[in-house]
Amino acid sequence: MSGKHPSFFQSVERNFDKAAVHTGLPKGLLEQIKVCNAVYQMRFPVSIGDEVHVIEAYRVQHSHHRLHTKGGIRYAMSVNQDEVMALAALMTYKCAIVDVPFGGAKGGVKINPKSYSEYELEKITRRYTTELIRKNFIGPGIDVPAPDYGTGSREMAWILDTYATFKHGEIDAAGCVTGKPVNQNGIRGRTEATGRGVFYALREVMSFKEDMEKIGLTQGIAGKTMVIQGLGNVGYHTANISINEGDVKVIGVAEYEGAIYKKDGLDINALMKHRKETGSIMDFPGATNLPKREDALELECDILVPAALENQITKENAPRIKAKIIAEAANGPVMADAEDILNDKGIIVIPDMYINAGGVTVSYFEWLKNLSHMRFGRMEKRFNSNAYENLVSTVERLTGKVIGPKERSILTKGADEIDLVNSGLEETMIEAYRQIRDVFVSNPNIKDMRTAAFVSALNKISGDYLALGIFP
Ligand code: NAD
Repeated sequence: MSGKHPSFFQSVERNFDKAAVHTGLPKGLLEQIKVCNAVYQMRFPVSIGDEVHVIEAYRVQHSHHRLHTKGGIRYAMSVNQDEVMALAALMTYKCAIVDVPFGGAKGGVKINPKSYSEYELEKITRRYTTELIRKNFIGPGIDVPAPDYGTGSREMAWILDTYATFKHGEIDAAGCVTGKPVNQNGIRGRTEATGRGVFYALREVMSFKEDMEKIGLTQGIAGKTMVIQGLGNVGYHTANISINEGDVKVIGVAEYEGAIYKKDGLDINALMKHRKETGSIMDFPGATNLPKREDALELECDILVPAALENQITKENAPRIKAKIIAEAANGPVMADAEDILNDKGIIVIPDMYINAGGVTVSYFEWLKNLSHMRFGRMEKRFNSNAYENLVSTVERLTGKVIGPKERSILTKGADEIDLVNSGLEETMIEAYRQIRDVFVSNPNIKDMRTAAFVSALNKISGDYLALGIFP
């Protein structure tokens, strides 16, 4: 225990232990699943201007129960070994929940990316990748990083380029990292995948009338109010897709510089533009500035989406949270000791390891695309489109009626890569929630969704270990 709160990794372990008692699995097997298998802590020098900066960085592989591991790379000053271990562990459970056949891993570089130029960031990223290559901690069949807080497709492109330079001639090299730009072996839909997954998950959770009635909400996501903390990759896309496809009203936003509120809903794209122009979300026309950025968490709303960093909802502010649903778009935003308070208040916490799994799901699709060396939809799009065209023409001929051009183009469309990616993501998020809910509903001793999600993950992971034949 560090200070008065558990550390992030201790929080994850505490939640694991809470769920483990419901699985009936042997102690040794549970212990093997719980621990981090490999922790690589490194320090490397990078020359920045006239100075040499010694950079602290990590890569943790939490579980080798599958052939290879997967997890993002974070650039932040908060990076430390405990944090990377916690995030790697969450990746193991996340991959199991959405049936992505990887063990969990995570990387972290302790820097503030805003303190470096693009050229300097490229140098740091390439050097970090070189360290991973040297220790065999990266490769399409070994460990496959992806973006996380403070990194994006640009960094992933540098990683691939460095890897491919060292591994010249390795035919599947493009699969060494995911979240790459589309024109550099990436996949359409990856950038917004985590936020899109959060939306699909919320829509599914809110489609169960009896569950919503218990927390005083009507069935369905349409018309519900949402507050977002962190308007980065995950937060922005969650807000934008929820507004456009779910008819949600985003009434509050918190960013680094403060928080704002607007009762009848914010125009999120206008807010992004305002932030770009002024450097801040504050003083957005029509909205009210809140005294402190943390105040947004305590606004009256249906759905609270923490999408910044871990440890945001603590036992101190938990009693003041008024949301009915907390969607953990970030990893670990609710501390283990705050969760009991939220549960007692009847708030549904949809756990990170399920709700933000859209990113790793589409990363998995990208990895498959890289291994197949072909864009999804290339083989069947035209074939399907021609078949639908024949069908429509036959119906027209038999009925003597003609379908309008707009309807015709909808009916005869073959699926593009983006259609297939979004449909695969939607299916994954719906199916995974149904599995978690089944565990929850069929086990009256399980009181919260996180425990149900853990049990669902542990049942799948233990199956892989038991298949090895080393556990009784
Ligand atoms: P990001 O860097 O794109 O955005 C994070 C945003 O949060 C930034 O705009 C930052 O200014 C803001 N922020 C930081 N501290 C804040 C605070 N105290 N209050 C309000 N805003 C604050 O990062 P991201 O990729 O969107 O990741 C956010 C979270 O989602 C992380 O926990 C990450 O691990 C998790 N996550 C990301 C992905 C992904 O695909 N990028 C996938 C799964 C989970």
